[in-house]
Amino acid sequence: MSSSLDPTTLHTDLFIDGSWRKAAGEATFTVENPATHEVIAEVADGGLDDALEAIAAAGRAQATWSKSTPRERADILRRAYDLVIANTDRLAAIMTAEMGKPLAEAKGEVAYGAEFLRWFSEEAIRIGGDHTTSIDGNTRILISKEPVGPCVLVTPWNFPLAMGARKIAPAVAAGCTMVFKPAELTPLTSLALVDIFRQAGLPDGVLNVVTTASPASVVEAWMNSGIARKVSFTGSTEVGKILLRQAAENVMRASMELGGNAPFVVLPDADLERAVAGAMQAKMRNMGEACTAANRFFVHRSLAEEFGEKLAKRMAELQVGNGALEGADVGPLIEQKALDKVEGLVADALAKGARILTGGNRPEGPGYFYTPTVLTDVPLDAELMTTEIFGPVAAITPFDSEDEAVRLANDTNWGLVGYVFTESVDKAMRFSSELEVGMVGLNTGLVSNPAAPFGGVKQSGLGREGGKVGIDEFLEYKYTAIAR
Ligand code: NAD
Repeated sequence: MSSSLDPTTLHTDLFIDGSWRKAAGEATFTVENPATHEVIAEVADGGLDDALEAIAAAGRAQATWSKSTPRERADILRRAYDLVIANTDRLAAIMTAEMGKPLAEAKGEVAYGAEFLRWFSEEAIRIGGDHTTSIDGNTRILISKEPVGPCVLVTPWNFPLAMGARKIAPAVAAGCTMVFKPAELTPLTSLALVDIFRQAGLPDGVLNVVTTASPASVVEAWMNSGIARKVSFTGSTEVGKILLRQAAENVMRASMELGGNAPFVVLPDADLERAVAGAMQAKMRNMGEACTAANRFFVHRSLAEEFGEKLAKRMAELQVGNGALEGADVGPLIEQKALDKVEGLVADALAKGARILTGGNRPEGPGYFYTPTVLTDVPLDAELMTTEIFGPVAAITPFDSEDEAVRLANDTNWGLVGYVFTESVDKAMRFSSELEVGMVGLNTGLVSNPAAPFGGVKQSGLGREGGKVGIDEFLEYKYTAIAR
């Protein structure tokens, strides 16, 4: 058991129709600390029967919940926000133990995730509608927005609190009920968040959670249940496509926050210090395990050498270690598979001619640690050009012209975010318009914010989370024609 965690505070059961319960057959699966390999908890391994009970509960609760008042929903979200903030230390300790990110980053994620609860508490009372007149003037048109209905929410392991909060909050605000399946690698933070919603007074059946080691069968049962009206998924493009096929089969609304392959472009007139600081943010947040992580650094040839040296210096200064301990800047990767993948991508790039400026090795175990790494002269046929690295590896490729930089940046099936560093307004506006992405960081390495519409184009997804439009993903328009 991890020393920084009080095991008595952990929820490990399913939450269905307002009560905590064991999985049918009392099956469990193990959650491990990626820094120490210690077992943190045994968590309920929900199966088909549990899945069906959960979606049935969401279906039953929908009619009453859609009639709840906007103020009631706003107040629940606001209480949940206060509770998350009051529980920051406990939530951060759980997150660090099961996911590995350093405590300071975990606290940052608690604050970031909590802001979605506060943001949507403020949106819940401003859903509104519209009113207009038919073109012949004979009919009044009343447009209202209604909850889409029971939602299937599926989240990844890399931001265990924020990814859940970013879906649950708008669904609550809109008046939707939910079945929620957090990632099997990091269920404990999500279960703690669910308990906070219970304490905040969310009615029974509105939010139901099934943890499981068999995600495909649980989620498919929900998708084919005939009860769910919408799926909101954050995770890999590969799994997103499976869920989109299931959504098509059932003609369900779908929001998809999928993978990324972010370009980070440094133009010849960039402020180098600012670019290096932005690179550290865009690369090293969450040990590089972020969909927004800069994956390909395209740096103008005149700056590439100096940029590489400065970035390597900053990366080499980072302390790698157990995120629960004082002084660790970079925690472990999530699992052995992730470590093997990062090692393989670096070896491939080096074999194809890249040079290493720092890092490139794994410290002695236990823990899935990898040292912060900077590669330069990375050739375009290196595998990491077309693969999400999802680790602390910055890969620099020099370029010669602006046109080349735009072409390279867009030469990917993904389109979540792109970063551009320049002091020229013209160049900034050119890249902001020509990058095929949903989000652009101009002279900044951080784009995530509850007030912003987060999401991608191309195979990075469909729909937006957060911002003014975030709640629309959970609303349907209905119009009533009123004879005059
Ligand atoms: P993943 O796709 O493997 O898993 C995500 C979730 O889907 C988990 O809960 C998992 O249990 C579930 N799942 C797995 N197989 C399934 C199936 N067949 N049917 C239904 N559900 C299934 O992704 P991951 O490894 O947890 O997360 C990393 C990925 O998430 C990266 O690609 C990253 O870019 C992406 N991501 C995107 C965003 C975004 O906002 N765009 C944010 C965070 C992470």
